Amino acid sequence: MTSFSELTTMRVGGSPAGYEVFHTTRELVAGAQRIWAETDAWMALGGGSNLIVADSGIDATVLHIQTRGVTVKKATGKKVQIHAEAGEGWDDLVAHTIAQGVRGLETLSGIPGSVGASVIQNIGAYGAEVSDTLVSIDFLEYPSAQRRTIPADELELGLRTSAVKTETLRGIVLGVTFALEPATDGQSIPLLYEQLYRALGVAEGERAGLADVREAVLALRASKGMVLDPRDPDSVSAGSFFLNPIVSEKVARGLPADAPRWWVEPEPEDVVLPLAEKDNLPSTVSAGDMPVKLSAAWLIEYSGIPKGFSLPGSKAAVSSKHSLAITNRGGATAAEVAELARYIVTTVGNACGIYLVPEPTLVGLEV
Ligand SMILES: Cc1cc2nc3c(=O)[nH]c(=O)nc-3n(C[C@H](O)[C@H](O)[C@H](O)COP(=O)(O)OP(=O)(O)OC[C@H]3O[C@@H](n4cnc5c(N)ncnc54)[C@H](O)[C@@H]3O)c2cc1C
Repeated sequence: MTSFSELTTMRVGGSPAGYEVFHTTRELVAGAQRIWAETDAWMALGGGSNLIVADSGIDATVLHIQTRGVTVKKATGKKVQIHAEAGEGWDDLVAHTIAQGVRGLETLSGIPGSVGASVIQNIGAYGAEVSDTLVSIDFLEYPSAQRRTIPADELELGLRTSAVKTETLRGIVLGVTFALEPATDGQSIPLLYEQLYRALGVAEGERAGLADVREAVLALRASKGMVLDPRDPDSVSAGSFFLNPIVSEKVARGLPADAPRWWVEPEPEDVVLPLAEKDNLPSTVSAGDMPVKLSAAWLIEYSGIPKGFSLPGSKAAVSSKHSLAITNRGGATAAEVAELARYIVTTVGNACGIYLVPEPTLVGLEV
């Protein structure tokens, strides 16, 4: 029986009770209906790049989605609607859109996995996320096996989350539709991520050539071990292991001044008040409760866990290129990955009072 150590990019985990591969959407719908009629224990699988399963495996049937197909649904002067089946490779779709001269997905180059799963955690990188261009998903609802189109605004898309990830909505993403913009000038979307616009030698908010943006993103990602590469042991991971925590401004102020932080909502404007009214500052200013996003990678290093760190005798280690990724250095177990993750959560919690939350889907594992 196929094991999750072969099905996931972290290369750990035991076997599922059942395993079926689907190459067409029609077969997938029929297969899901048949499996759901027999059992409640099932699980969808794409590229296995955001999934860590226990060494004992799972008592469930895996539906491995390898459906293919990209269709241009609608091209109305300003936007092009592109639909891709769930099993298409995410990066293949990104490369295809760039080759077709449409912009919107280029900063998401190099993210592993399938198109269907891109919605599950609203993948994001270098200043963009799937929710920026998502129109709708073609969804097979569990347990009714009803097929329906769900618009993006009903998916509760947030920072690496969606209604499908939280299981408010259960079922299988069969396909995804994006609205992209024809890039008649060959230029990208405005670049908002500092590392990226600096690498391209443009100012914040400026654009660059679509292909140049892809190349720069791939190079930045490779320097952090964030592109799957058989020659790079740091890419044997599930990507970022922890979410960047969102805390109140008050908590963020307790950290050293050099701790990176970003306003989640637009930065509050300066409030100009006559001195006589100085006691009437608006509550948002005095309460310090504006949400602020922190860098989990920075918190990990600040807490004393360096890149490359591993626990004695363990084959799981923090990536030597990026402190946010846990890697399998060869022959690690899921238990070793979870043990290192727990160590990081506890150490950062003790040092900073902030408890990191894992980003990948964990099955049968506690962190
Ligand atoms: C090296 C590396 C770098 C990464 N960089 C990033 C990054 O920059 N940004 C980012 O956001 N993520 C990143 N990731 C995480 C990962 O690539 C994404 O989350 C990706 O979308 C997962 O796709 P997948 O097909 O591999 O999903 P899987 O791992 O197969 O599945 C993940 C979850 O989604 C569910 N699922 C999968 N397909 C479907 C479907 N069709 N319908 C319903 N449920 C489904 C599974 O049941 C599981 O719960 C990275 C991962 C790696 C290994």
